[in-house]
Amino acid sequence: MLLLLQKELSERQLSAVLDLASELGLQSTALDEVGCSVPRLLRLAGPGAPEQRSRFEDLAGVAKVLDAGEARERHERASREDRVVEAAAARFGGGHVSLIAGPCAVEDGDRLVEIARAARDQGATLLRGGAFKPRTSPYSFQGLGRPGLDLLARVKAEVGLGVVTEVLETREIDHVAEVADVIQIGARSMASSPLLIEAGRTGKPILLKRGFGATVREFLMAAEFILSTGNDRIILCERGVRGFDTITRNLLDVGAVAHLKQATHLPVIVDPSHAAGRSDLVRQVARAGIAAGADGLIVEVHSHPEEAHSDGAQAISISELGRIVQDTQALADLDGRTFVQQETLGLRA
Ligand code: PEP
Ligand code: MN
Repeated sequence: MLLLLQKELSERQLSAVLDLASELGLQSTALDEVGCSVPRLLRLAGPGAPEQRSRFEDLAGVAKVLDAGEARERHERASREDRVVEAAAARFGGGHVSLIAGPCAVEDGDRLVEIARAARDQGATLLRGGAFKPRTSPYSFQGLGRPGLDLLARVKAEVGLGVVTEVLETREIDHVAEVADVIQIGARSMASSPLLIEAGRTGKPILLKRGFGATVREFLMAAEFILSTGNDRIILCERGVRGFDTITRNLLDVGAVAHLKQATHLPVIVDPSHAAGRSDLVRQVARAGIAAGADGLIVEVHSHPEEAHSDGAQAISISELGRIVQDTQALADLDGRTFVQQETLGLRA
């Protein structure tokens, strides 16, 4: 590991750095020119561990960790090999592209069956739908709660799609985990470390959405909380960050998608619905996400978009979902990747 120390380093700050290094079994060598009284560049050699970097970053005497060396964090890509995350018939990463589709919120059993069947027939391998909804206003529809989870369980059995649904608070995790094939942690909850840890402990795949004001580093550190529980079944989701314009709801950060594919072995998907916030732009934003290297999409779709209880403006029709599937298939082919459909796995009757 290579540390850049503070310019005005006090003796006590330096000893704190050196003491921590020896406590962690690391040998310190100053790399400055001979004759420098106070070191600025410090090399630490020895067995690395993921938590070492953050320990040094927290010290007042350390300006920056320039190179984490062997103290690699768990999300960091160590080889060309991707972590492939599988859930029901879906597969993300390692050249597999999958589609998650469904309503923003679980609203009604019959309607959910109708949307789930249509999503499955179009090529989705997972059904999305929130029973617990994180809303901006306390007066908006907050989701059906536990009865919504029961509806998801029913539809899952009836339609044969795995389920992605959000957890908002730790006390609901067991209930959500009982139904969910993938537990979603939303943009508003990304920074809630107790929730990340408890969700990680279920051992279930976690769909982690980037906070709309979170840097890529903060996003990866949220994933690191889950990884620290021993659960590495994480799907990162770029869903747009806050911009200054109101033309779209958020700004899809395609650069972050491309960067994440290099920086981590974890799969990365894109949510074009919350990025665009407008049904007429979802298809184009979805194409941009896949073209940037995303391993899949999560899309809000509704059989009657004009009646959706939440996020109606961004809900696309079933036929538009079909067009997104065609685009995704074509873009995946172009890259030599596989768009996973239930037929691909021989699961469809
Ligand atoms: C959602 O997926 O419905 C949702 C609330 O998304 P986000 O957390 O990205 O806002
Ligand atoms: Mn939504």
